[in-house]
Amino acid sequence: SDCMKHYNLYATCPSPKLSTGVVHPVAGMTCQKGCICPSEYKYTSSNCSGNYTVSGGSCDGKYNDCVCKSEFKYNSSNCSGENQPSGTSCGGNYNGCTIRPECTVSSKDCTYGCAGYNSCDRCTSCKSNPDCDVSDKSCTYGCASYNSCSKCTSCKDNPDCSATAVSCDYGCASTNSCGICTSCSGNPDCDVADKSCDYGCASTNSCGKCTECKSCTPYSDETGCTDGTESCSDGCGGTRLCCKDHTHSYSCPSGYSTSNAGMISPVTADKVCSCGATSGTCYKEGHSHSYSCPSGYSSSNSWGSSAQTASKTCSCGAASGTCYKAPAHTHSYSCPSGYSETKTARSCKTTSKRCSCGATSGTCYREFICTDVGTAHRDYPTSICTLSVTVITGCGYTIQCYSCRSCNSC
Ligand SMILES: [Zn+2]
Ligand SMILES: [Zn+2]
Ligand SMILES: [Zn+2]
Repeated sequence: SDCMKHYNLYATCPSPKLSTGVVHPVAGMTCQKGCICPSEYKYTSSNCSGNYTVSGGSCDGKYNDCVCKSEFKYNSSNCSGENQPSGTSCGGNYNGCTIRPECTVSSKDCTYGCAGYNSCDRCTSCKSNPDCDVSDKSCTYGCASYNSCSKCTSCKDNPDCSATAVSCDYGCASTNSCGICTSCSGNPDCDVADKSCDYGCASTNSCGKCTECKSCTPYSDETGCTDGTESCSDGCGGTRLCCKDHTHSYSCPSGYSTSNAGMISPVTADKVCSCGATSGTCYKEGHSHSYSCPSGYSSSNSWGSSAQTASKTCSCGAASGTCYKAPAHTHSYSCPSGYSETKTARSCKTTSKRCSCGATSGTCYREFICTDVGTAHRDYPTSICTLSVTVITGCGYTIQCYSCRSCNSC
């Protein structure tokens, strides 16, 4: 402008400066008398320092605002959870955000569960083994089981209660602490005095003690004697008739013998005396033969004297009687039609000699013929009829066979 060009004055004050009035260097020309900064542009590093820094617009090196430095940016909305604002504060914000001290603690690893947590949810104390809170049982017969804290949780039973009770005929003499009988009372009959009797005892008690004596009664005479009688004691000081002793004579029951020699399954019986006494053993045969024919044979003969025969046998090996079957067949072998038993230099075809029963033995022979190769005529000379010629070779010779156009034309 002309103000600046000719008079070094502003035509208008540059923002944010304010005018101090106008001058008119020449008629019709208006320039600014002076331009100054507004009073709010008052901050420099000398009056805005420490935690603060200048901010906003500037005017001749001074600023219109003084604010907290940008490092003061932490508060509870951007630094929370396991962290917290720290350091120094400015305008309600802090210049640090660090982990809360209680969150640096490591959480305890507890066997029986956690007992307490700090404000950062870290376990800081453990529960003790619950087994240790159990009361320790006091046992009369010893402890049967302990828990993990060595507290007794169950007691042993009275060992006397597992004893086996004895079974008594005359009552129990003693019981153990569990009321089980361990020894029996003796038979009271055994405490009784054993009577001594002149003529024998009339009755004894359950312990074999004589409780009553016989008054003497003489034995009577023996009867039914086979070998006569003799005098003997009557048991009361007198005599009576007793049978004389006899000499036993033993023999086998009817049908039995004294030896089992040759028997297949002997049956035994006692040798007896006529008095009933026995001594020694008698035997008879317990096996009875059961005869049958071998397989294929019959017990009846419908073939006469030419039948084949075999013995009827028992399973024990004994034989009795005869079995029969059809006479043996005598094979008669012959050659089929066209074959002969004679072999020649041209005997190329062979077959077996056969019996009418189907058995075979030996060999039959014949020469090749044209039908062996499906061709009807041999050595047919007429060329008119000849359709084809088949030559059979091998076996050391050759034949020619011919086929015709039709059978009629030949
Ligand atoms: Zn006898
Ligand atoms: Zn037998
Ligand atoms: Zn045969």
